[in-house]
Amino acid sequence: MRVQEKTKYLESLLDLEVMIRELEALSRNLWWSWNPDAQEIFAELSRLVWNSSRHNAVAVLGSVSKAELKSRLMDKDFAARTREVLVAFRQYLTPERTWCSAYAAPFLKKPIAYFCAEFALHESLPIYCGGLGVLAGDHAKSASDLGVPFIGITLFYRQGYFEQLISRGGWQEEHYPSLDRDNLPLEPVLDKQGKPLLLWVEFSQSRIWFQAWRLRVGRADIYLLDTEVSQNDSAYRGLASRVYGGDMTTRIGQEMVMGIGGVRLLQALGVSPAVFHLNEGHSAFLILELLRQQLDSGADPGEAERRVRDRCVFTTHTPVAAGHDRFSPELMEYAFAGYRSLLGMEAQQFLGYGRTRADDPKESFCMTVLALKMSRGANGVSQLHGQVSREMWKGLLESPTYRGSSIGHITNGVHMLGWMSRPARRFWKRHLGPEWEARLMYPDLWRVISDEEAISDEEVWALRYQLRRQLIEFVRRHVPDTFPGSGTERARAFETLLSPDALTIGFARRFATYKRAPLIFSDLRRMAELVNDSERPVQLIFAGKAHPQDVQGKEFIKRILEISKRSEYLGKVVFLENYDMNVARRMISGADLWLNTPRRPLEASGTSGQKVSVHGGLNLSVLDGWWREGYDGTNGWAIGADEHPADEAAQDRADLESLYRTLSRSIVPLFYERDSRGIPRGWIARIRRAMQTLIPRYNTDRMVTEYVTRYYLPRK
Ligand SMILES: *Cc1c(COP(=O)(O)O)cnc(C)c1O
Repeated sequence: MRVQEKTKYLESLLDLEVMIRELEALSRNLWWSWNPDAQEIFAELSRLVWNSSRHNAVAVLGSVSKAELKSRLMDKDFAARTREVLVAFRQYLTPERTWCSAYAAPFLKKPIAYFCAEFALHESLPIYCGGLGVLAGDHAKSASDLGVPFIGITLFYRQGYFEQLISRGGWQEEHYPSLDRDNLPLEPVLDKQGKPLLLWVEFSQSRIWFQAWRLRVGRADIYLLDTEVSQNDSAYRGLASRVYGGDMTTRIGQEMVMGIGGVRLLQALGVSPAVFHLNEGHSAFLILELLRQQLDSGADPGEAERRVRDRCVFTTHTPVAAGHDRFSPELMEYAFAGYRSLLGMEAQQFLGYGRTRADDPKESFCMTVLALKMSRGANGVSQLHGQVSREMWKGLLESPTYRGSSIGHITNGVHMLGWMSRPARRFWKRHLGPEWEARLMYPDLWRVISDEEAISDEEVWALRYQLRRQLIEFVRRHVPDTFPGSGTERARAFETLLSPDALTIGFARRFATYKRAPLIFSDLRRMAELVNDSERPVQLIFAGKAHPQDVQGKEFIKRILEISKRSEYLGKVVFLENYDMNVARRMISGADLWLNTPRRPLEASGTSGQKVSVHGGLNLSVLDGWWREGYDGTNGWAIGADEHPADEAAQDRADLESLYRTLSRSIVPLFYERDSRGIPRGWIARIRRAMQTLIPRYNTDRMVTEYVTRYYLPRK
């Protein structure tokens, strides 16, 4: 936006009607979710609704009458801050220059279409279950920030992912409240007559109809495909009600709608993407629809395959063979009964696309195989995961008929601005100079961290205290009613629940069993010593959801809850209910130490540990996924060595020993070693090292630019 335009825009905002319209537009673009000043405007309008609606700007505006809104905007200070936010928003939407225009201009013409079964964008839109969704959401936000044209495709899960409640007995229960569509920033996609655009996908002998909703995320758009339409049989209406919900037939139906339906939606919108990015195999059926389009336009099969392959890029996330999406030949035949004739293929030829041995009639149809065979670029999400994936798919990659890509790697990152707590954002704004938000991925920007004149230890320590206290007070407000005890004893325990002075360990992620949440409690005697050291106490905060069908994951939650109720751990070990993006934001900013104990090499990348560095948190992690690359001996701590015994029990034992040793001999002493002013100089030196080495690398700005330059740009 040029100066003149800005002046004109500011003038237009003098009209309250215009200002209200613009505020509504702002509430309907998730840009506000990574802009604290914008959030503050909505929060200030109604604290109650803001807090009770999981920080939902649309819900807040819906609850304030026009009369009130006008009146509030007559307050000079509030109006001035609102104007400032609106100008920043306009400027963001109409940039003069972006990373993309400067370095990847060919990319400005056509968008990338990014397909993913889940997107974690904000806690008010719970259509995600974990890290895959977080990665997709962060990818979208960074693409927007960088000016890379981005269209996301996913499903509208009317009940989202479940809300976690813990029963008195410590057992996880799942609740599925329906999302209130009217209070979400979704716009229906309309046809030429102005009615909701209806499309369909052939499923078995009939059709699944769907409509689409547009979600604005800065400059990016994400379309949510929705099967809850009256044209559908009741059986199909709820097809997409839950993230990864239902049986295999539901699952294949969901994936057909997302993949095939997504391509049809893009065509109906008149969008011709430069690249189709398949984030995980769930969307791989899109390849079939692209093939069909090529065959329909008269290409011979070989040429059709070449053209499709030329437009597809695939990211795999699953380092266990059993974790890849597979459908039996019978289910494929059933689900594709109508669709296959459109392709004009015999069953065996068709099924061969998803088989490592194309002519083995017993082999099931694997979405990863389809995606690998038909993509011109494929990658894992860390160096080690790239290796593991190449090894896992060796048979396919080395087969003489294989025409797909080899598997490289791009290490995941996080959208720093979206994960940054408000105090941290203010801290960095003070220290990094103008336009720092656009330069996060450049190591130069972060040089200042090693300069103790520019940023003092005292300031860093003050930030740590502030963030730790915020987390502890959040926990005190949110610890569930299941907290044990009664009467005054319970009240006292609650008041002293967690100490703002103690070394605070955070662990929050899905309770998938390979992540070994209770590992640290394997030796309860040793752990109790650490927790109860009166001079140098350690406290732990846990959060996470187990998959509804994962009984062992639920056992893990139960075990941690039980431990938290024992007298020697009471008030010092806490499990927080209902892990979501909001709880995540609190935990990653407040924890001093972020614990990560996956069974190597099963954590393909992991990203939660990448969120802590901007807040002065340090990682203690198994050398798996991103940490194997990020750890340099000075910027956190490693559990175990850069190897893993094949025997699981042996790995557990070795990791446990390493974990306790590092905690008691290195971490606890360093945290509590204070100078005469009470400052832990050595600990802060480590924080500085972590900030300098990790922030510029493990962010999605760097990650998206790697995708653009190494995977999206057409090969010469
Ligand atoms: C960051 C994040 C994750 C990913 O955590 P990992 O430790 O990498 O598995 C999952 N869920 C939420 C809500 C997150 O914020």
